[in-house]
Amino acid sequence: MSTKTCDHLDSLTTAAEPGSTVCEQCVTMGDTWVHLRSCLGCGMVGCCDNSKNQHARGHWEQHGHPLVTSIEPGESWRYCFADDLLVM
Ligand SMILES: [Zn+2]
Ligand SMILES: [Zn+2]
Ligand SMILES: [Zn+2]
Repeated sequence: MSTKTCDHLDSLTTAAEPGSTVCEQCVTMGDTWVHLRSCLGCGMVGCCDNSKNQHARGHWEQHGHPLVTSIEPGESWRYCFADDLLVM
């Protein structure tokens, strides 16, 4: 069992609402995705790690926003890229 915790979530005051219902970067590229994640820092929607382009991970690497939430129906978990940790 991991004992890691995520300090990023504690320092997040308000979670940003998803700014889209598609991965805009994939749409621009004419590509498809598997699942969508929304950045809790700014609301940018990107595709998951199972998707070819991994835009949610790319967003973290480029903009330093580590926290994402799933916007798939029925899913409510959050994930921190920096800590590689699921946070509920
Ligand atoms: Zn974290
Ligand atoms: Zn994408
Ligand atoms: Zn962001």
